[in-house]
Amino acid sequence: MITPESPDWEQMRRGWNLSVDQQPAAVVEAAGPDQVAEAVKYAATQGLQVSAQAGGHGATYALDGMLVVRTSALDSLSVDVTARTARVGAGVRWGDLQAALDGTGLTGLPGSSANVSVVGYCLNGGFSWFSRPYGSGAGSLRAVELVDAAGERRWIDDASEPDLMWALRGGGGNFGVVTAVELDLHRAPAITGGRLIFPIEQAGAVLTAYGQATREAPDNVTLWAYLAQYPTPACMVDVITPDASSAELEQALSLVRAAGTPVSEVIRPLQPSEVADFNSVPAPPQALSLITSPFQEVTPELIGTLQEYGKPPLFQVVIRHLRSGQDGTYPGVAAADPQAPYLVLAVSIARTPDQQEPGVRALRALQEALSPWSVGQKTPTGLSSWNTLDECYGPNDLARLREIKQRVDPGDRFVGNFRLL
Ligand SMILES: Cc1cc2nc3c(=O)[nH]c(=O)nc-3n(C[C@H](O)[C@H](O)[C@H](O)COP(=O)(O)OP(=O)(O)OC[C@H]3O[C@@H](n4cnc5c(N)ncnc54)[C@H](O)[C@@H]3O)c2cc1C
Repeated sequence: MITPESPDWEQMRRGWNLSVDQQPAAVVEAAGPDQVAEAVKYAATQGLQVSAQAGGHGATYALDGMLVVRTSALDSLSVDVTARTARVGAGVRWGDLQAALDGTGLTGLPGSSANVSVVGYCLNGGFSWFSRPYGSGAGSLRAVELVDAAGERRWIDDASEPDLMWALRGGGGNFGVVTAVELDLHRAPAITGGRLIFPIEQAGAVLTAYGQATREAPDNVTLWAYLAQYPTPACMVDVITPDASSAELEQALSLVRAAGTPVSEVIRPLQPSEVADFNSVPAPPQALSLITSPFQEVTPELIGTLQEYGKPPLFQVVIRHLRSGQDGTYPGVAAADPQAPYLVLAVSIARTPDQQEPGVRALRALQEALSPWSVGQKTPTGLSSWNTLDECYGPNDLARLREIKQRVDPGDRFVGNFRLL
């Protein structure tokens, strides 16, 4: 346990995301699940609330005053290729799991950071390169091992605890400290992907073509478009598929390619491990802030707004295609499956402390400007530290989550990075 008196407190109290100056009461670096259980029991004796943290990509001020239980050392990982499942400890990062899948013809559902934990991502939703064909990270959770409010370790699944499983699929860290999960893997026999880069001046035409290409693309082809500022301003389109034929890929890309003059185009076969790092933000801790805004259609007005606001101090503005327009709800998932087909994800990164406030101001201005097109719910992995969970669930789901929370954790021992109560 690291306390404010410990010499390395200043370093250890922080999570990966340095934009949040989190001030827990103490931090426990658990060496295994039994130590997680011990920490939860200890917290009860001290009247402390507990917040689990893997790497701290989702750090928020909700963790202030908590006993933070770090799970990074819980790194067990096994894959059952025949059953198409994996069991991973709560410290395993997407990069680790995807690397274990190289050569298996299977993939998990990583997002855009190899460094984010599988468990933190799946508990909070998780929108992936492969969400169009395979849904959210939360939807792939089969079974969960957690330490409950009594400090007991137990495995649960849909047969033993259907309500709690539903809540854990998108309800975040409010129900216990998860020590491991079993999750579904998905078919990916021929992952292919890459990036087209265009001069920023061609962004309007490229994003218009992107709108059409995504409307027509089959479910197994995903295209994400970027207005990027670093290293130099550019408009980029990423494409990825777990198994599409080259003709299907070519059809999706030809519209985009014809809209401008790509300065670079690299499309190639990928291993699962390369997907996790496909367009990653640098791995070392960053002061990163983000906003997300789900929307229905890529219109000229929306493109104009993205071009107007998608400039420095923002790092990049991304359109992610997540759904093909059908109803995206999955039974058994609390939140987490964005019901709108597209999502704007905008990011600012402060290299120095004085860059943080202008970056956040620019993000909030973009959020406001996008509000006319904003539809449906967000996923908790797409929340900023100033958002609340009300933005992720409908009133019935929110009431059900709170009822389950009160049942399994009546003393409110566990606090996620976004509070449920
Ligand atoms: C660079 C970057 C790229 C990202 N890309 C994507 C993306 O493509 N798609 C996407 O959906 N999200 C993305 N995210 C968001 C990210 O998935 C969430 O912030 C996620 O919650 C991070 O999990 P973590 O474990 O790494 O972070 P943490 O901050 O450690 O965890 C976040 C929260 O999850 C809960 N939690 C974590 N571990 C446990 C546990 N063992 N038991 C109980 N609760 C737990 C806690 O409430 C914790 O506060 C990205 C974030 C960053 C910084």
